[in-house]
Amino acid sequence: MNSIFWPYRKQHKLRAVELAEPRFLTPTLRASLKGILPLANAIRDLERAGEGDSELSRRMKALIRNHLTTASAELTDKASRQGLDLIAKGLINDDQYKSNGSILASLDEQELVGHVGPLGTWLGKSRKLFFSAFFGTPNNSLQAVSDVVDKHFKGAVSRLSANLDIELKTIPGCAYKIIDLFGIAGEADTFPKHFAYLMPEDQGIKYSPNKRTVVFANTYLALYQHIADEQKDIFGWTDIDLPCRSEIGRYLIGWFRGHDLGHSIVTEATDYRLLSRHDRWGSMVAQEAVADVFGFLLILDAEIAECLGLDTTKMIRLYVLELLRYLRRGPADFPDAGSAYIQLRLLEEWDVLSVNSPGSIDIDCERFVSAMARIAELLVKTVLVNDVGSFDAFLRNYSPHLADTDQDLLFGLEICDTSLFYEQTLTEKT
Ligand SMILES: [Zn+2]
Repeated sequence: MNSIFWPYRKQHKLRAVELAEPRFLTPTLRASLKGILPLANAIRDLERAGEGDSELSRRMKALIRNHLTTASAELTDKASRQGLDLIAKGLINDDQYKSNGSILASLDEQELVGHVGPLGTWLGKSRKLFFSAFFGTPNNSLQAVSDVVDKHFKGAVSRLSANLDIELKTIPGCAYKIIDLFGIAGEADTFPKHFAYLMPEDQGIKYSPNKRTVVFANTYLALYQHIADEQKDIFGWTDIDLPCRSEIGRYLIGWFRGHDLGHSIVTEATDYRLLSRHDRWGSMVAQEAVADVFGFLLILDAEIAECLGLDTTKMIRLYVLELLRYLRRGPADFPDAGSAYIQLRLLEEWDVLSVNSPGSIDIDCERFVSAMARIAELLVKTVLVNDVGSFDAFLRNYSPHLADTDQDLLFGLEICDTSLFYEQTLTEKT
């Protein structure tokens, strides 16, 4: 699948989001990064034409390499320079690309974070890698939010274990690097936009001693503001019921870091390989559900919520808006949309969510957190155990990819056909 838009929709509504370039770019640095982006687009086009390995493509990669070397020399931060140098070397051959991916994931750049080379896309779209490039600058204030969650993670998991009366364990998770995106090209700039990449796994490197999720904070905020927030009327909420503009990043990144760490919460009996052999898509949906639910419970852990100054009811509402945003991208097209469906369906079964009429939904915020704890218990019994029978029964009951085709998976709402479109000052302005 080579299309620019995925999944198929009758129409696509685009919301323009400006990606502003950082002020520190010197003219030489700016020119080199600006030079890379159209080349990355051109290489992606050659891939579409079946010419990804052509001489022309190789020559374009050589040009990118020169730009990266020039750009690197303009940077003052050692790790950022090292990052660009590794990317440049990785363009020479596949082996180098693979070994460098792991080193790149261990860096803590303070000036510029980048990627140029093959990158994964949406799982339902294709499992192949396609040429992509992106550049961003570290977002220190939201990195600090994520670091708070990391700091209290172990304690929060043991408190959660005690509350649920389930012995939870943690396996090594991955680091988080939060950046503001300012330049992007190739597959990564097709639609819909990703706001996070798991590196180096998304570079096609499955086993790596170092892993980090690179999060595009500005993209994530734009997704919330342009898509999630617009759904508040469905619940009769207004701006004062939700985190204010300056607080949104804290709530979103806090929860999303909780989600990411939620992926590393298991029990003694967990065996995802077994579940994956049984139903690969279903296993991915279930793993997203585990991460979502534990992520939600973690972020409302007393110490984390207090440190980040989070209001429980506002967190619940923001979370529900995010669940709907995920769901309305297509319940069976994305594992995280499937996960959103499972949670919303269970909340409906337990009368925490009620559809009044099409487009009007009530949420019982008083009972919401205890219902999420109940979902966690259910997931522990059906997903975090090596029992294919109960896993299969759970999926048959709740996963949208196994639902009847005539079933309403959208709770009376419409599918969302809005996507973000990047206006990049780096490439648009001379
Ligand atoms: Zn996830």
